Formats: sequence, structure tokens, C-alpha cells
Amino acid sequence: MLAIILFFLIHWYFSLFFQTFFHHRYAAHKMFTMSPGWEKVFFVLSWIFQGSSYIGVRAYGVMHRMHHAYADTEDDPHSPDFAEGLFDMMFKTKKIYSKIFFNRFVTDEKFAKGVPSWERFERFADGWFVRVGWGLFYVAFYAAFAPNLWWWLLLPLHFMMGPLHGAIINWFAHRIGYRNFEVTDKSRNLMPVDIFMMGEGYHNNHHKFGARPNFGVKWHELDPTWFVIKIFNRLNIIQLKKTPIAA
Ligand SMILES: [Zn+2]
Ligand SMILES: [Zn+2]
Repeated sequence: MLAIILFFLIHWYFSLFFQTFFHHRYAAHKMFTMSPGWEKVFFVLSWIFQGSSYIGVRAYGVMHRMHHAYADTEDDPHSPDFAEGLFDMMFKTKKIYSKIFFNRFVTDEKFAKGVPSWERFERFADGWFVRVGWGLFYVAFYAAFAPNLWWWLLLPLHFMMGPLHGAIINWFAHRIGYRNFEVTDKSRNLMPVDIFMMGEGYHNNHHKFGARPNFGVKWHELDPTWFVIKIFNRLNIIQLKKTPIAA
């Protein structure tokens, strides 16, 4: 049982960490810089931990910039206000994501400017045999370590880990929670202390200060990812920009 719990927690937190650290704060918002070598390392680590539900970094970056520019309007790639429900929003997000991933989407150049790209690697990571391979690995792990079949109910979460984390923020953090700032969109902070989503839950703060690498604003809003970012900056893995707090 312990093996399954650990496996789930590692998958949850590492998949989430690379999405918030690499896809979100680095690729989309450029809150810090890193060398091309480290960029490749984080591409590969994101793939290992997102596995079957790997999210393309370039496509995510472009789509996420559109979200900020058009938040909660008709042009927002994933607004709860323009979807029939959570799954409809996820389906629409997937559709536009795929168009960007396969270069079938024409958008303003500013959304693609400076977004990291490693096309050959991402085509490989997106391959169905690779995705299914990861899925089979999760199934094999559960077959080996799950005490009974009830635990297998967690498997769909493993298959969908990346988009699941995206949907939690994109849906719930535009609907539920509190606001520190009156902004034009409907973003909210999901919880006062966000260990669950590694700081992504302070979504209202993030919509207010889009370039700020620390998502917490109030004293209790601890941002675990910001803590790791500071360590990476100390170790010179990344270089934090001396940007003022600005959107
Ligand atoms: Zn953002
Ligand atoms: Zn948002």
C-alpha cells in the first residue's frame, strides 16, 4: 500500500512541479532564464514525470499567453464561462492545444515569441506508442503493488495527470475561492495555504501580477514552487530576472 501511495504522490507532485515551474513560469511567462542545456534537461524531466499525459511546452506556452490576454472572454482557450461544463472545457482546451502543437493554429506572433521549442523531442513524447508505454508502466506498477483492485480506481488520474492539474486551476480557480485583487477576469485564489497545487492555486494573485515568480502575496500564502525556484537560482541552474512586480 505504501508503494502505491508514494507512487501516486511522486507522480502528482513532480508532474505538477514541472508544469508550474517549466511550462508555466518559464516557458509562458519567462520569469527567469536558463541555459539551452538546462532547458533540455527540464524538457526531459517534464516528459518523465508527466509521462502518458505529457504537455507540449511550446503549445502550452502559446495557449497560456492567450489565456492571460483574453481571460474569461470568448477568445480565452479555456474559460468556464464559455463551456458547458468541466469536461467540455477540457475538450475545447485539448482541441486548441492540438492545433497549436501541430502548427495548425494561426495566432498573434507575440504569443509565440521566445517560447522554448524542441520539436523533434516533443513529437517523440507525443507519439501514441510512447504515451501508451507510460500507461502500461502505471498499470504494471499497480499490478505489482496494489493490495486490491479498489486502488486501481486511481489509475485514470495517472493517465491524465497533466491535463488534470491544468483543469483544476482553469476551472475551479476561475470559480471558487477568494480574491485579493479586483481584476477584469474571474480568477480566484483556491485556498489560503496551497500545498496541494504547489502555489498554482493563488491564481487571482497570478492574474494580477503575471510576471511575479512568487505566486503568494499575503503572509500565509506560501508558494512551494517559489521556494524551489530560489534554490535553483542560488545553484545557478536558473537566473531570476530583476523584473519589477508587473503583469
Ligand atoms: Zn500564467
Ligand atoms: Zn486563469
